[in-house]
Amino acid sequence: MAHFHSLKIRSLVRDTRDAIVVSFDVPAELRPIFHYQPGQHLTLRATIDGEEQRRSYSICSAVQDDELKIAIKKVSGGVFSSWAHENFSTGMALEVMPPNGSFHLPLSPAHHRHYLAFAAGSGITPVFSIIKSTLLAEPQSRFTLVYGNRASSTVMMRDPLADLKDQFLDRLSVIHIMSREKQDIELFNGRIDADKCRALFEQWIWLGDIDHVFICGPQHMMEQVSATLFSLGLDKSRIHAELFGVATPATRPRAVAAATDAQCDVTLVIDGRHYEFSMPRDAMPVLEAGLAQGIEIPYACKGGICATCRCKITEGKADMDANHALEDYEVASGFVLSCQAFPATDKLVLDFDQDA
Ligand SMILES: Cc1cc2nc3c(=O)[nH]c(=O)nc-3n(C[C@H](O)[C@H](O)[C@H](O)COP(=O)(O)OP(=O)(O)OC[C@H]3O[C@@H](n4cnc5c(N)ncnc54)[C@H](O)[C@@H]3O)c2cc1C
Repeated sequence: MAHFHSLKIRSLVRDTRDAIVVSFDVPAELRPIFHYQPGQHLTLRATIDGEEQRRSYSICSAVQDDELKIAIKKVSGGVFSSWAHENFSTGMALEVMPPNGSFHLPLSPAHHRHYLAFAAGSGITPVFSIIKSTLLAEPQSRFTLVYGNRASSTVMMRDPLADLKDQFLDRLSVIHIMSREKQDIELFNGRIDADKCRALFEQWIWLGDIDHVFICGPQHMMEQVSATLFSLGLDKSRIHAELFGVATPATRPRAVAAATDAQCDVTLVIDGRHYEFSMPRDAMPVLEAGLAQGIEIPYACKGGICATCRCKITEGKADMDANHALEDYEVASGFVLSCQAFPATDKLVLDFDQDA
């Protein structure tokens, strides 16, 4: 799982002025490990201006599609997204880590559900994969999407969404919320925030009918939507969120006073191999200490967001500084993000091979 593979770009399509859709050629021998669940993401690695950069991009194709596709929105001043927009070309080989992430629910043709999704901007990518995969796999389920953008010209995946709407006229409902383009229905103008969310539930969407909600977009919007759903009585276990980035750095500096001489004997289990080393208990996260030992550990954001470095504690304890990725049930069953995990015991065993 820790390994990158070389995949060639099969096609490159401009989606909006700021977004490109990239599809990959997956050779037959790599197909099993690049098999994905809806809503999962790929981590790309590249050396840009002499420095290694890793970024995650959500897969925006359905699991039933015979292609592996991501969409990259150019972030102003962004290192990787700008480089991708300027340098990607058809046939170019990229280093890609196999799919990862738990922003999805098991699909079943027996389900008879009404799902709701809130997406804003590039947050549509995993949501599109989830919607299309679900509508194809669950013939009795329905989806309502609330999708926020500035104006129609900035709507990522607009055409694929319109095609999906045509294909599933009775089972897909798309509500576009625009902040800088006036629409006839006043309710659909503005931003997706707590007030908009409440207004939608009062006038357009009956929350009592909703089984699960998926949310992806800027942190502020996600927090407001989740808090509103929660306050309206939706159980936390029905709210699923994927964060692309945080406004404030996830890792706060540890209090120097906390640094003692206490050491921890760490064992990392990765691809069946055991790596052992000793590290200070309170000075750095286990990921940093392991990378300093030259161990190839899967990671991307180092900010507690992408969950690429997720692993399970099988012995000892660790404290996490920030967790924007793991659900409560995962933490309860011992999963941690190694980029945020500080040893809290003299011995700590982290298993990267366990999935459940
Ligand atoms: C699980 C996961 C899935 C993701 N999926 C996608 C996807 O499908 N499509 C996509 O385009 N991006 C996606 N991202 C975001 C992506 O990984 C990068 O963070 C993004 O492309 C910016 O990287 P950069 O190197 O260009 O910017 P950086 O050089 O890392 O950042 C430059 C500046 O931009 C700000 N910034 C960083 N990210 C964003 C953002 N998303 N929006 C606004 N400002 C930002 C930073 O705070 C910083 O000030 C995903 C992230 C995660 C964790």
